[in-house]
Amino acid sequence: MPLLARPSPTAHRPPAAYCPMLHPTDLKLVDPQRLEIAWSDGQVRTYSLRELRESCPCASCRERRTAPPPPPTELTVLRPAEAQPLRITQMHPVGRYAYSIHFSDGHDTGIYTLELLRELGSEA
Ligand SMILES: [Zn+2]
Repeated sequence: MPLLARPSPTAHRPPAAYCPMLHPTDLKLVDPQRLEIAWSDGQVRTYSLRELRESCPCASCRERRTAPPPPPTELTVLRPAEAQPLRITQMHPVGRYAYSIHFSDGHDTGIYTLELLRELGSEA
């Protein structure tokens, strides 16, 4: 007698009650500074790239946002890349729940969960 039974062909089907999460059905840049996301429930939200960049959820950005502001005598010098208008150079899904966004200032470590993307932007 074999110890292992052959797996039944239905073993890997998702359960019948499986409910797909809210997800983007369309992503596009409506102009170089604005991203538009259409969601599976019909809502369309627009996002300014500046807002997305400033809401970057990666550890170093979160740390920078919670750090006390620099003393007023300290001049902040922008790197040339930061002085350019911000662009998205790449955006791709991470698993089923998030997007990775690469910005033209070289920052690409932010993973934007769908939950976060639903909180940001404004309804179009
Ligand atoms: Zn970041």
